[in-house]
Amino acid sequence: MSDVKELVIIGSGPAGHTAAIYAARANLRPFMFEGYVTGGPAGGQLTTTTEVENFPGFPEAVEGPELMRLFRKQSARFGTEMVGEDVSEVDFSKRLFTVKSESRGVKTKAVIIATGATARRMGVPNEEKMWNNGISACAVCDGALPFFRNQPLMVIGGGDTAVEEATYLTKFGSVVYLVHRRDELRASKIMQKRALENEKIEIMWNTVLEDAVGEQFVTGAQVKNVKSMEVKEIPVAGIFYAIGHTPNTQAFKGQIDLDESGYIKVKEGTQETSVEGVFAAGDVQDHKYRQAVTAAGSGCAAALEAERWLATQA
Ligand code: NDP
Repeated sequence: MSDVKELVIIGSGPAGHTAAIYAARANLRPFMFEGYVTGGPAGGQLTTTTEVENFPGFPEAVEGPELMRLFRKQSARFGTEMVGEDVSEVDFSKRLFTVKSESRGVKTKAVIIATGATARRMGVPNEEKMWNNGISACAVCDGALPFFRNQPLMVIGGGDTAVEEATYLTKFGSVVYLVHRRDELRASKIMQKRALENEKIEIMWNTVLEDAVGEQFVTGAQVKNVKSMEVKEIPVAGIFYAIGHTPNTQAFKGQIDLDESGYIKVKEGTQETSVEGVFAAGDVQDHKYRQAVTAAGSGCAAALEAERWLATQA
């Protein structure tokens, strides 16, 4: 039983690393599965973005991958053990808990899940080529980049995120096309009103994105009206996906309570899941704010709760 861990942290974005920093400083010697493929690379969603201008402490902005390198360095400095593997299976039905990756099975007293969420993609033919070259899944992260300034832009989706992002992009773009597959927005009434009243937002109803146009960077979007079946090309410099996120909870199904969208349910005002000793932090339990700084905050809370809970188990 020598290899029993006090705390396993699953995930290596802002939530996972903040939890690790707090837990390591509390002498819990956290063991982190950083992830590898599921839910994107180690470091999470920030590693696939460019400039981060809204993380406090970086007044001149910081590149997403660099920010995550610093998070990781800080976790390592306090003794977090890390492996670059995906968790494939867990057993939370009995203590000690078991957390398994392809190459190892780890027994642990407590777990913090911080596996994040993955922005859904459309899967259009040029998507891979144009990703970060005009296609983005985060207007708040990328919208202010110079090559979008005073250019026509496009947002795909009809939910609150799509409306919020379209509204945000009107600060930079000359016009923002909001492309929605139906004739009614899913967004809340107040958000809808905001979009409909904004002169710079042009809603394209019953319309789907067929492809991104361009050589190296996006120069246009090929869209199809699903009623008339008319296909046309709209000149745009940026296409922003806002078609929702999928929480990375595949490995936890049947082990802890998830909501109807697959997000981990936490008890109000805490980071506790339905299993005592298992905590959740970051986007995997938050579809509302989804910011690096809120993820980090919940990672801190999860570590403090885990530490207190472990103390009661001694
Ligand atoms: P939602 O799931 O609410 O909306 C996704 C939108 O994308 C829908 O309009 C959907 O269309 C469309 N969509 C999905 N898949 C495709 C596809 N393959 N092709 C084209 N369109 C597609 O996600 P959100 O991210 O907008 O919101 C998630 C949650 O977060 C919600 O509960 C929301 O209320 C909340 N939120 C709250 C905010 C706030 O309060 N300020 C801000 C942002 C989000 P369809 O409608 O046809 O299904």
